[in-house]
Amino acid sequence: MTEKIRRFLRDRQPATPCVVVDLDVVGANYDRLHRLLPRAEIYYAVKANPAAPVVKLLVGKGSCFDTASIHEIDLCLGQGAPAERLSFGNTIKKQSDIAAAFARGVTLFAFDSRAELEKLAVAAPGARVFCRVLMDCPGAEWPLNRKFGCELEMARDLMIRARGLGLDPYGLSFHVGSQQTDLDQWDLAIGRTAMVFSMLNEAGIELRMLNIGGGFPAHYRRDNVPELDAYADAINRAMEKHFGNRMPQLIIEPGRGMTGDAGVIQTEVVLISEKGYGETRRWVFLDIGKFGGLAETMDESIQYRIRTRHDGTETGPVILAGPTCDSADVLYDKADYRLPLALRIGDKIEIHATGAYTTSYSAVGFNGFPPLQEHYI
Ligand SMILES: *Cc1c(COP(=O)(O)O)cnc(C)c1O
Repeated sequence: MTEKIRRFLRDRQPATPCVVVDLDVVGANYDRLHRLLPRAEIYYAVKANPAAPVVKLLVGKGSCFDTASIHEIDLCLGQGAPAERLSFGNTIKKQSDIAAAFARGVTLFAFDSRAELEKLAVAAPGARVFCRVLMDCPGAEWPLNRKFGCELEMARDLMIRARGLGLDPYGLSFHVGSQQTDLDQWDLAIGRTAMVFSMLNEAGIELRMLNIGGGFPAHYRRDNVPELDAYADAINRAMEKHFGNRMPQLIIEPGRGMTGDAGVIQTEVVLISEKGYGETRRWVFLDIGKFGGLAETMDESIQYRIRTRHDGTETGPVILAGPTCDSADVLYDKADYRLPLALRIGDKIEIHATGAYTTSYSAVGFNGFPPLQEHYI
């Protein structure tokens, strides 16, 4: 937790639950990625944290944006991002939204199927298009596999078809999975896409861009995350190895790696209880749960770092749960969380590295709980 967040929580005593995001950390993350991967253009994945102050800060830094809907496009335009710095990166778009984006000046679009390509040809004639290829995502704590991308041979055929439809066959993309901790995945993925570049070369199509997506980490409880320099090295090495001196334009789309570590959620303990007399594990209920912004605790995939004012004292095992009347609203049961025995109802607890995929997952009003309150400082 940064000094700025600590001071804000101490002096302002905001109502809980809330997330406090230190914009300086977002800015530093942008600068670091830019320094480590100077060849890459950064397209911030807006869905990770779509707050206007985050987007505005990144517009000022010269960032580009990966958007998933016409609403995210309008958000970025509204914060001053020029249309030529936007990519409509969702492979699942309504034709009317493609047309609306094209009318606003967006000329870069993702697809992974023939039907989507045909929509693009009609609604965004002549636009630059890139095909997303399928990845397995082993090593990712929040995989983005199966739903997105197509096989390599299909990608090749679709790019040839794109040219036939009057579109500009611009490049390829992939995503190795979010919170990816296996650096070899980039070599594998970049190698595969380089094969499609070659296949298309033979067909007379020179692709100009490779979009390697996100996957850059935030720092959660598992301490298995390599340094960011190691990510950059793996990517640079793989690009040299597979593309040599025919280097395409490189795009990265960090979401979690940009905003994750910048945020802290403050929550309050609502209830501590046991379900039977012989039980050794306490149930600790917080005023935030899966529907209040902690959706990534699904299957206990993302395991946040939790801090209390009793840290350093004796702990005992807990089951952590949210406040709604839904039995799916359990955060951690199998993940062996322990909290101080001195923890009391009414205590404030901090959940770290919650600047990404929290506000954007917070339900509008399940059980009448309002959406997660946000403070950008
Ligand atoms: C969600 C998403 C990202 C961001 O991924 P992170 O792992 O959070 O960096 C990037 N690109 C696309 C297409 C996405 O859908």
